[in-house]
Parts: sequence; structure tokens; C-alpha cells
Amino acid sequence: MSIHVSGYKPSPSDLSSSATELELFVKNFPILQEYEQDILSCADYFFCAPSFAWCSWLLVDGAGPLYLGYLLLGWRQGFFSSQCSGCEAKAIVFRFGCGFPFSGGYSFSAFCPSCRSIERRLNEHGVLKLIEFVRGLRKRYPREVKEWEEFDGSVFSWGGNGLKPERRKRLKTTPMAQEVSFEQIFEELKAGKLRPQNFPNVSLFDLPASLIFDDAGGKKLKLSCQAKDQVE
Ligand SMILES: [Zn+2]
Repeated sequence: MSIHVSGYKPSPSDLSSSATELELFVKNFPILQEYEQDILSCADYFFCAPSFAWCSWLLVDGAGPLYLGYLLLGWRQGFFSSQCSGCEAKAIVFRFGCGFPFSGGYSFSAFCPSCRSIERRLNEHGVLKLIEFVRGLRKRYPREVKEWEEFDGSVFSWGGNGLKPERRKRLKTTPMAQEVSFEQIFEELKAGKLRPQNFPNVSLFDLPASLIFDDAGGKKLKLSCQAKDQVE
């Protein structure tokens, strides 16, 4: 487990486009529902990162942008859903965060597709389950894959003949999708110009997960959760 001392913060450019993209989200949510399976099946759509959707916490890795596919999976499976305080319909949580996760409390923002309201609220418990869900998503559906590859390089030796050839290793990063803006997705969906499906079927999503915090005194807080897709 990696240790971080500060939470995730969106970039200034993300913050500046956040309101506009959130407006698009609210206006076009029925389209996201209609094309949900197409979005989950296409890596370019799945890994689109709306600037208003992210999560943040301290100490544990996994905080960061919430990709469109993550939002839809989280909503579908109930992790990113809350009851709207206005009309009691199922709202979609698109952002959440806390400081230290030990207390279990967190704040979140959610959009209710039924009465089209956005609310920001506090929940006194449950953040560990959300954190573990997101960490599981990042592991199972990474935005990029890093792997070591060998290449023909050279090393320098003072005592020898200077540079000599040697097989070396470097870390190679492969993005899993092409960048596509949130706005562009709606343009493509509305025009019926869908990108080809290039993603493994995620309808069999099954995520066993556990999270253990171990403080200096040896006291452990453990959480296990099992996320199963509800859709046949
Ligand atoms: Zn509502």
C-alpha cells in the first residue's frame, strides 16, 4: 500500500471547465443511460475523465479522477448512489472526499436524474467501502499500463573502454484509451457515430476486496466487500 500525505487535487484547467461539463452531464444524463453499455464497452468513452468527477482522501492510494466508466459502474452497482433529499429518487454520486478515512465520514456531491437537482451532503460513515471500490476499479480497469521493457543501451565504465553496449530496462507506459473530451462524447453519441467496442465485457464485474489500516499501535481496522454486478 502506498502512503500519501496529501489528497488528490484537480488541476486548475479541470476546475475551470468543471461547471460547464457538469452542466453537460445534467442536460445529457438520459443519453448516458441510453448508451451506457456502449460507453462501458469502448475504452475511449470509458476512460473519459469529466473534470467535475473525482475523489480525494489521505493516506491510501487510489484517489483521483473518476472516469465515466467508473461513474456508471459505481452507479449501477449502488456504490455511487444516494437517495435524493428532495424527491427520494436514486441520485448519482459524481464526487466524494474525506481527510483521513478512519472515521468513515465523507462529503459527496450527487445529481438526481429525477428532479434534476445537485446536492452536496455529508455522510457519517461508509467511505471505506467507496475507497475500496475505487481502488478495485483502478486495479481492474487501469487508465494506463506500466511495464518494464528491455532495450539495447550502453553503460559507461571509467576503468574499461568507456561506453560499452548492454541490454537495459526501461519503464514503458501504455495508455489504454485515446483522449476524448466529455463534450465530444455527446457529439458522437447524438450523431450515432459510436466508436468501435474495444473493451472486455464488464457485465461480469465481480470485485472481491479488502482494506486494512494498521496504525502504529498495531490496532487494525479491516473492511471486506464483495461487489457483484446486478445486471444479467
Ligand atoms: Zn431528486
